[in-house]
Amino acid sequence: MSEIRRESILKCYTDINQLNDTDRLLLEEAKKAVDTSYAPYSNFHVGCALQLNNGVIVKGSNQENIAYPSGLCAERVAIFSAGANYPNEAVKIMAITVKSDKFKVIEPIMSCGACLQSMSEYEMRFKKPMRIILQGETGDIYIAEGLKNFMPFMFWTDELKG
Ligand SMILES: [Zn+2]
Repeated sequence: MSEIRRESILKCYTDINQLNDTDRLLLEEAKKAVDTSYAPYSNFHVGCALQLNNGVIVKGSNQENIAYPSGLCAERVAIFSAGANYPNEAVKIMAITVKSDKFKVIEPIMSCGACLQSMSEYEMRFKKPMRIILQGETGDIYIAEGLKNFMPFMFWTDELKG
């Protein structure tokens, strides 16, 4: 028996002013996107701002539905919008932040598995890892270089080729 280990690295920053200009701008845009969230059921508002290779910023927010599975997370709203409107542009950076009507979110919230899987498709498609920036309403900011830091054993299309 042997063990297979893969390392995840998240850089942690304690203040938005420690980020470079682009990362700070994206996080600020994600915070603006929180206000477009439609979350009357969870009262948990998520905002996402991504930057494409051509510099364009695309935003998304969670859109809930009374039939719960019909709603969609902010990350997928943003990345599918980018894919539909800018099909040939790689996603360079995604910033994701949250706000709850019920409590103060003081730690970064990780994206759900379905969003991570959807985001990974864009890394594979453009063969380019994306930088992911996470922050709660306040508190520490986590930055990861590539989705493998969140899904170290992620499913790659290479595995379909046999
Ligand atoms: Zn999600």
